[in-house]
Order: sequence, then structure tokens, then C-alpha cells
Amino acid sequence: MTTRECAQVVIVGGGPAGSALAFALARSGVSVTVLDRAHFPRSKPCAEYLSPQASRVLASMGVLETVERSGAAQLAGMVIRAPNGVRVVGEFAGCSVKGFRDRGLSVRREILDAILLDAARDAGADVREATHVVDVMRDASGRVRGVRTVDGQVLAAAFVVGADGLRSVVARRLALARTARWPRRYALVTHYRDVAEIGECGEMHVERGGYVGIADVGGGLTTVALVVASRPAKSFAAGRERFLDAWLAARPQLAARFANATRVSPVVATGPFASRARRAWVPGAALVGDAADFFDPFTGEGIYAALRGGEMLAPFLIESLGTASARQENAALVEFVLPVRAPRSAR
Ligand SMILES: Cc1cc2nc3c(=O)[nH]c(=O)nc-3n(C[C@H](O)[C@H](O)[C@H](O)COP(=O)(O)OP(=O)(O)OC[C@H]3O[C@@H](n4cnc5c(N)ncnc54)[C@H](O)[C@@H]3O)c2cc1C
Repeated sequence: MTTRECAQVVIVGGGPAGSALAFALARSGVSVTVLDRAHFPRSKPCAEYLSPQASRVLASMGVLETVERSGAAQLAGMVIRAPNGVRVVGEFAGCSVKGFRDRGLSVRREILDAILLDAARDAGADVREATHVVDVMRDASGRVRGVRTVDGQVLAAAFVVGADGLRSVVARRLALARTARWPRRYALVTHYRDVAEIGECGEMHVERGGYVGIADVGGGLTTVALVVASRPAKSFAAGRERFLDAWLAARPQLAARFANATRVSPVVATGPFASRARRAWVPGAALVGDAADFFDPFTGEGIYAALRGGEMLAPFLIESLGTASARQENAALVEFVLPVRAPRSAR
């Protein structure tokens, strides 16, 4: 086993949360290393909508134009269709509370996440792809001191952040992970070409037994993300494609629109969701993004929450790095968790 001093901060996971945090830390002169097990560009099961406020964080990272030029679709709002056929249309421009913009974006995660990670790299973060973290290292006092990778390297750091998404290895190794019994949902996600009647709004079709999100993601592609409860998800084993085809075919209003559509990416399964960390930090480590709290896909807010979480954690982490004692460091992180992030996480 080799031990290497790596950086002041090691971030496990280079998704939206890890990239936003790495960007903010590197910009402030903190030495930061991002470790991600994937090679980018990589896909991520997601309905791929970004709420208008997410564009504010993209702009502050200097990548909003790059994302738009990458072919992202502009979203005027969301249409929600109830099981009885009633449709509710919510347009961002009509909101009484004005956000950063009056439109959202939708873009393939393969594109978005690579742009975000490049922004962190350009800001000065040391980004190491294909680096799979399997454990968290602690000293005799229990304080986190680094991480161990699958090939046995120990990377030491003053602070470790778990930005490694749902089923975070950092949260699990620190015994912070907590899986809720409800809602135990699973999802199937894929892309199609030539879906009929795709408009300017993202769509959410709520049905008995699940819901499906549909959105233009630019380049003539449509993302389809079907979310179902655990009981129907048992049938995924018989074939994800078959399950999705049958689900769409059984809903006449959707079946007609998919009649001439071609699936252009594999159907990826993910779940169960419903996980929330018991708390978001311990001495020497913190959690951010899905690693800390998973947002149900129905909200369409997970990417924004991850970006915003990374952005919010940075100043508290910088303050804690500058403190002389463990007590002062803890005080800085309690400030992050209590009033800013989520009061319930501190319980
Ligand atoms: C079906 C579905 C639909 C969704 N739809 C939407 C939507 O439309 N809009 C929206 O805003 N949100 C949506 N979400 C939620 C959104 O995808 C997440 O909230 C968001 O990706 C969280 O970002 P993150 O950076 O915390 O984690 P992630 O994006 O999951 O990134 C985590 C990173 O950590 C890396 N990693 C994991 N484990 C390790 C390890 N052991 N070692 C090293 N690296 C590791 C992974 O490779 C990955 O790059 C959806 C989620 C699902 C499941």
C-alpha cells in the first residue's frame, strides 16, 4: 500500500456537486483533487432537466454559454399530466417569483457533466478519472485523513468530501448512509429519436404505478425516464427494453407518440432511491449532492441542488481549513449544516 499526500481537499466524485465544489475551492486557492471512477464523458441515468436557477450556477462557473452552445434545449416550463388526463402547464416566465431566467435547460448528462468537470480542471483542480475509491482512512482519533483506491493507493488530505452520489461509498464507510423504506423507487432511462409532438416544455406523465418524464435534450433526441415502485420493478429482470416498451404501449396517449420513434441508447436501470445521510459531516469529512440527500426525480431539482450544495459548502470548508483546533473546525461545519443546508440533517 502506498500513501501519498494529495491535496488539502480530496473530493470523491466529479458529478455536478463535486465539480461545483472543486471549482469554487480551486478558485479560492485551495489545492483540491477530484477522484472519479468513471472516464468522462460518461452518462448518468437522469431525466436531464435543469431548473432556471441551475443556469445561475452554470453562469457563475463560466460555462452557461458552453452548455447552450453544446446543443442544450431551452425549456419554457413543465407540463404535468394526471392519470385522468388533466394537464397542468407551468411556464417559468409566468412564475410570480422571478428566478435567474425565465427558461430552463435540458442537456444530456454526458455533455453537461464533462463541461462541469472541465471547468473545475481549468480553475486549477487536479482531476483524476478512472480512480475508484473504496474506503476512507481515519487516524487514531477517528478523524478522516484520506481515502483508499481500489488499487491500494492511499491519498491523504486535510479534508475529504463525498460527492459520490446515491449509494456514496464515503457515506457508507463513515456509517452516515441511511436508506429510507419509502419511497423505494426504481427508474429506467433511455433516449429516443423522432418522438412525435415534443414541445417547448418538459413533460411529466403521472400514471397509476409510476410516472414518466419526457424532454427534448437537443440534437433531435428525447430523454425518457420511467420511475416505478419496487414491486413492478421486479419485472425489469425479464428485460428492461421489454418493460419500457410495454409500459409506453399500454398508455394510448404515449403509444401514438412513440409509434415511429427509435431508441438510440441502452435502457439503463437505477434505484432504489430514498436515501438520506444521517448527517452531512464528521471530523475531516463532509457529504454533498446526492451523497447527502437524494432528491426524487419528480422534483427535477437534483442537479441544481448538487451544484448549489457544492457552491455552498466551499466557504465553510475554507473556513474550517483555516481553523487551529478541531472544535473551531466543527463549529465552521455546523454552520454549513444547520442554517444553510438542511436543518433536519443535523439531528
Ligand atoms: C431517474 C432519474 C431522473 C432524474 N432526473 C433529474 C432531472 O430531470 N433533473 C434534475 O435536476 N435531477 C434529476 N435527477 C437527479 C440528479 O441526477 C442527481 O441529483 C444529480 O446527478 C446529483 O449530482 P451529484 O454530483 O451529487 O452525483 P452524481 O451525478 O451521481 O455524480 C457522482 C459521481 O461520483 C462518481 N463516483 C461514485 N462512486 C465513486 C467511487 N466509489 N469512487 C470514485 N468516484 C465515484 C460517479 O462516477 C459520478 O461521476 C434524476 C435522478 C434519477 C435517478
